[in-house]
Amino acid sequence: MLCKIGEVEVWRILEIHAPFMTPEELWPDADADVSAIVEAHVPGGLCPQSGRLILPVQGFLLKTLSHTILVDSCVGNDKTNAGTPDWNKRSDTRFEAALTAAGVGFDDVDFVLCTHLHMDHVGWNTRLEDGRWMPTFPNARYLIPAADEEVHRLGATDMYRESVLPVIEAGQAELVQTGHSLGDEVTLVPTPGHTPGHVAVLIRSGGREAVITGDAMHSTVQCWHPDWHFVYDGDGEQATASRRQLLEEASETDRIVLGSHFALPSVGRVKAEGDAFRWEER
Ligand SMILES: [Zn+2]
Repeated sequence: MLCKIGEVEVWRILEIHAPFMTPEELWPDADADVSAIVEAHVPGGLCPQSGRLILPVQGFLLKTLSHTILVDSCVGNDKTNAGTPDWNKRSDTRFEAALTAAGVGFDDVDFVLCTHLHMDHVGWNTRLEDGRWMPTFPNARYLIPAADEEVHRLGATDMYRESVLPVIEAGQAELVQTGHSLGDEVTLVPTPGHTPGHVAVLIRSGGREAVITGDAMHSTVQCWHPDWHFVYDGDGEQATASRRQLLEEASETDRIVLGSHFALPSVGRVKAEGDAFRWEER
């Protein structure tokens, strides 16, 4: 178990831990010495050979008293991700093994919660069975941000066809607005900008709080530099405003922060520092 928030167990479901892109590519409008800044704040965060940021791709499994909830389903197997060769047509057992280690099989998941509809957050929504895309979790309701669903339905993307539409056709999808709650413990928090419908996930139990960032942030270096625009943020200004608000609330409430792509162990706290923040690993 990664941590426990009141009565809610949080388990890391790690699929990929590999160099991704260089800091200069990821934050193209940041300071010229962006790699040095990342190295100073995120020890071991860059691959020494390639200089690329080491990016975990992981979901978080929440075991509440009443539900088993998977937050984000990573890249998946057999998916078409032509623009990202490392994520294209994968065949790998690590995701399922991580669920098994958490004591959970595909049948046990009650809810799959997608923070947003990007390829590295929806892949295991479905899997290929006899040439057809089928929901991986046969007993789950899938909560999908409505604003993102509309974008990808209209765009008819491979991701939508392979990882979202089959869930809708199986009658297992719920298109949700932000503010949606799952029981008393889990609430979707609007954090638009990376995508229009992006949500962070707030966990509250036993007087304790934690937040799963999704892609409102990608690295703890953004605590110090929340205004850096991330290359894949759809609306950079809106994403920055959401990121600052998430950081402000986390520091004011002393919430545990679980960063979906943060350097492992991806869990810590945010403290206010000057007109920005700093990261304290837990
Ligand atoms: Zn992502």
